[in-house]
Amino acid sequence: MRVPILGTAAGIERYLLELGTITEFPDRAGVTRRLYTEAWQKAQIMIYELMCAAGLEAWMDEVGNVHGRLQGSSDQTILTGSHFDTVVDGGAYDGAYGIIAGIVALSELKARQVPLHRSLEVVAFSEEEGSRFPLTCWGSRALVGKIDTEAMLLCDSQGISLNDAMRSVGLNPSRAHPRRSYDYQGFVELHVEQGSQLEERRKPIGIVGTIFGQERWIVRVRGESAHAGTTRMARRHDALVAASEMVMAVYRLSQNNEAHAIATVGLLQVHHGTANCVPGHVTFTVDLRSAHDEIRRNLALQLRQDFKESGIRHGVEVVAEKHTDTAAVSMSSHLQHLTRDVAENLELDTLFLDSRAGHDAQILGREMPAGMIFVPSHQGISHHAREFTSARDLANGERVLRNVLERAANNRYSEDGGG
Ligand SMILES: [Zn+2]
Repeated sequence: MRVPILGTAAGIERYLLELGTITEFPDRAGVTRRLYTEAWQKAQIMIYELMCAAGLEAWMDEVGNVHGRLQGSSDQTILTGSHFDTVVDGGAYDGAYGIIAGIVALSELKARQVPLHRSLEVVAFSEEEGSRFPLTCWGSRALVGKIDTEAMLLCDSQGISLNDAMRSVGLNPSRAHPRRSYDYQGFVELHVEQGSQLEERRKPIGIVGTIFGQERWIVRVRGESAHAGTTRMARRHDALVAASEMVMAVYRLSQNNEAHAIATVGLLQVHHGTANCVPGHVTFTVDLRSAHDEIRRNLALQLRQDFKESGIRHGVEVVAEKHTDTAAVSMSSHLQHLTRDVAENLELDTLFLDSRAGHDAQILGREMPAGMIFVPSHQGISHHAREFTSARDLANGERVLRNVLERAANNRYSEDGGG
């Protein structure tokens, strides 16, 4: 590992892009690093080596999270970081930025011999996106001891269980509860916005108020597979036509409630489908989000009713199974104000906004005061190869993060909780 050029805009961008070359599909645009794949493991090692090169005390934990620590005079610890898994054909900035900038920030504080009361730790979470197994925020959930041992039996689309996937990268599934060796007192996550509000309003720094709650479902629709030529319309139990109505119900619900909720069908499969058969078995996903859990619950009920009615109309069986439910979380008001003060001192304009994307801060925010800092995403493009944030915006975010961490490590720390 070359010694990093840390603390400069070029350094952050360079390491981010280098990490972005580690992907499952090098011949495709974008970055794919799903949990416990070979590419994932290569990225894990690169992050570990970067932490060591930056002079941090580095280690990997029982679920593959990578930690880099800068010891202060107390074991009380302020955490920063983000995730290094990606969606399929995602971008180089989502998640990775918060890790690289965190390493740079801690390295700078170390190089300048800034005295720290509390310790600082940057953590690269093993998984957040839910792109391989039907679970999200695996790394941050594990860090706070909030993982379900039943999750070990979950399988990816190839039928490989989480259990076996862990073993394939040398982890022991029976030890998937990392020790919480330090007294974690707060978490600050730096992330690209993944929306266009900051760019449109020309604000270099976003401060997150609430992270939307979200739930994900797998919906199974079972009708009757039949001959496409000889089966008359009245006799058909077409699972795909019924599912299509349900997709439209999701779309309309989203359209009618966009100010406070949003819903998406991102995956639909016709099982054993062929051109000359009426589809008998379809599965699809639903992703439903809102800043208000009560509103989300009501919209979910409404959707279930719509699905039921479509099922009855087409004589098909519909089972909608919820596999993820993450409550909306308010970020610590203390950390929000601290971030605004820091940005003002650096003469960087701020915008307070909510996050419609899920983040690790959502999990940690229930256990400790948490804050999120956003930098602009060009045209709001995210989860895509064209995801881009300028080197200048990347550097601004790191400066804000570094100063927030230094002040959180040394100031009297408010106990306003994560909510
Ligand atoms: Zn992310």
